Amino acid sequence: MSKVSIVKCSTYSQNVLFDAVKHSVGLVGGIDAFVKSGEKVLLKPNLLMAAVPEKGITTHPEFIRAVIRLVKTAGGVVSLGDSYGGTSDSVDKVWGDTGMLKLAQEEGVELVKLETSGVREFKLSNGLPELYVSNTVFEFDKVISLPKLKTHALTTFTCAVKNMYGVIPGVRKSDYHRFLPSPDEFCVLLSELVIKIPPVLTIVDGIIGMEGDGPSAGILRECGLILAGSSVFEIDEVTARIMGVPDELNPMKKAYMSLGVNISPEIVGETMESAKIPGFVLPSTKSVQSILLTYLPKWLQKMLMRMFRMHMKINTKKCVLCMTCYKRCPKNAITKNRKKLKINLNTCVSCMCCHELCKYKAVDLEYTLFARVLLKIKSFGKINSNKKK
Ligand code: SF4
Ligand code: SF4
Repeated sequence: MSKVSIVKCSTYSQNVLFDAVKHSVGLVGGIDAFVKSGEKVLLKPNLLMAAVPEKGITTHPEFIRAVIRLVKTAGGVVSLGDSYGGTSDSVDKVWGDTGMLKLAQEEGVELVKLETSGVREFKLSNGLPELYVSNTVFEFDKVISLPKLKTHALTTFTCAVKNMYGVIPGVRKSDYHRFLPSPDEFCVLLSELVIKIPPVLTIVDGIIGMEGDGPSAGILRECGLILAGSSVFEIDEVTARIMGVPDELNPMKKAYMSLGVNISPEIVGETMESAKIPGFVLPSTKSVQSILLTYLPKWLQKMLMRMFRMHMKINTKKCVLCMTCYKRCPKNAITKNRKKLKINLNTCVSCMCCHELCKYKAVDLEYTLFARVLLKIKSFGKINSNKKK
């Protein structure tokens, strides 16, 4: 059993917010209990995509600022990093749009790319595929996770456990959806990941949350809450109760309980009754994807996910053969043949290291042919309906 604090805070105004974050951490032992002077601390926010803070998709920069300042009071040396969801955006664009670049400059902290340092492999149980975690994470003494309180079409909600998924670099994250299409299996992988790489502390940005069809297409909801604690599982349990997620719609709970994790959070600060968000709207889920993933037979699920896979491709017209990607690929998946480089998709783990390191923008992120055709049809439909308007 560990403590999970709930503190009310309805603003991102720094003076009020800093005190509220400090209070929430104080209730679970204080920042000095988690960070020692001189330790290197990685703050891991939710930077799902290149979206401005007002969209409520990513952890708010003012929330992160408050945590940076708090960690500095304990003498921690702070860096900031996350591997985003993997779209055509670049990491630099994600940092710019989410406010991280400005924040890092103003607070004098380093932004670290989780995509550029190679990966460490972890074997999982139950025949799950091996995990590839960014080497960057292991350069730090402590990780503090800063999730956003949101719904999630596949896992019903996303908070402490799911936020740590971002230690897996690049679009490998979407590969795991392909390997483990059902929410139940996917949540077992997430639970095993956080058992192996647990953050020392989690502080949840639940000031403005997201309800409905999260994690990016939902509706903003003023929740006015900050949660903190050392156990990701117990924080998620408290979050689920606050959001009104019943156990039968909580695949994460089913997953970690199947791994023998026992939870019994001691709630401090606000009571559950005062923190509960009335009428919190859960995903209409369910998105077409999650319906497919829940009800189709496994072989068909896997086939469909394979058809939508995103992968790296070397653009031979732009490539100047500087060989940086070739030398830095952690899986030796890049081969050279007749002055051309090629990525072997069977050994590539989609970490995006090559994509991030190529100064010549010669490594493209590409969908499968099938997905490209479908996306073309979809955008053609959109153009036509716009014309009719
Ligand atoms: S880093 Fe870019 S330019 Fe250099 S070899 Fe790789 S793809 Fe070509
Ligand atoms: S080719 Fe290598 S560096 Fe590029 S994504 Fe695959 S594993 Fe990573």
